[in-house]
Amino acid sequence: MDRVTRKPRLATVWLGGCSGCHMSFLDLDERLISLAARVDLCASPLTDYKDFPETDITLVEGAVANQEHLEHIRTVRRRTKILVSLGDCAVTGNVTAMRNIFKLEDVLDRAYRQTATVVIGIPSGNGAVPRLLDRVRPVHEVVKVDRFVPGCPPSADAIHEFVVGLLEGRATSLQGRFG
Ligand code: SF4
Repeated sequence: MDRVTRKPRLATVWLGGCSGCHMSFLDLDERLISLAARVDLCASPLTDYKDFPETDITLVEGAVANQEHLEHIRTVRRRTKILVSLGDCAVTGNVTAMRNIFKLEDVLDRAYRQTATVVIGIPSGNGAVPRLLDRVRPVHEVVKVDRFVPGCPPSADAIHEFVVGLLEGRATSLQGRFG
C-alpha cells in the first residue's frame, strides 16, 4: 500500500506586536492560495482554537511582554518542530521593548491613571489584563528559536521566500546572528 504523506502543519502566533507582521504575511495575496495547497494552516489569530495544536512550523509575531505571552510561547515551543521569530519585535524586542527603559510601575501609572479618562486604575476582576513582565523580552530569551526573519515588518516577498525555502528544505536562517 502507498504511504500516505501529509502536508506540513503551519501555525502563526501573535504575541506583543502590532499585527503588522501578520498583515505582511497576508500581503502574499494570490501566493497565499498556492501556499495553502502546500501546508495545513492549523492555527492562527484568525482561527478559533482552544489548545494550541502540534505543528511542523510556527511563525511568531511579537515579543514576550506579559505572563499570558510567556505561558503561551512555552506551550507553542513544546508543540512545534521549527519555531520561527517573525519580525523585529520577536527577534529583538523592537517597538514592544521600548517600555523597558521605564520602570514597570511608571508604565502602568501612565497607561491606567495619568491618561485614563473613563475608568481610572488598573482593571481587575473580569476585566483584568494579563500581568506585564518587568521587562519585554525577544522570543529566543524565553524559548529556543530555530529560525529568525528580521524586518519591521519583513516584506511579503521575504516571508514567501523564507517559508517556501523551509518547505523545500533550504536553509534560510539568521540563527548564527541571534541564536
Ligand atoms: Fe509591528 Fe514591526 Fe513589531 Fe512586526 S516587527 S509586530 S510590524 S512593530
